[in-house]
Amino acid sequence: MNERRTLRSFEIQQVTSLLDLLNSIQLCQTKKDVKVWNLTKDGTLTVKSCHLLLDRIYCSGVKPFQCNVWIKIVPPKIQCFIWLAVQEGICTGSFLLKHQVLTAAQALCPLCSSAVEKIDHMLIHCSFVLRLWCKIKYFA
Ligand SMILES: [Zn+2]
Repeated sequence: MNERRTLRSFEIQQVTSLLDLLNSIQLCQTKKDVKVWNLTKDGTLTVKSCHLLLDRIYCSGVKPFQCNVWIKIVPPKIQCFIWLAVQEGICTGSFLLKHQVLTAAQALCPLCSSAVEKIDHMLIHCSFVLRLWCKIKYFA
């Protein structure tokens, strides 16, 4: 899946601040500095390489996040769903819209109809799901 979203204004400010900070630092006086992402072969920053880096940082000594999905205490059908969600392999309205199976109107969230159904909307941002999460929180 190759889906991108527009950065929000605060994210643009954060990226701009980071790039300004990086550009203000000159490591070598005799050569021009260039930006290279060492975690990919061609030096290009990718989301996948960032995820792998974060897995390495936050799970040092532990298996990467994707491996943690397969722990034995979670039922197999839940494991498969989480795996598909992480891989953005759930057949959401957004996915079906992209592949021209649904129209834009048909791709709206069936629970709230306020946004195109994407995986993050389905699991986190949908107003219906938020109410559900709040109820679960009270039972915990
Ligand atoms: Zn919704």
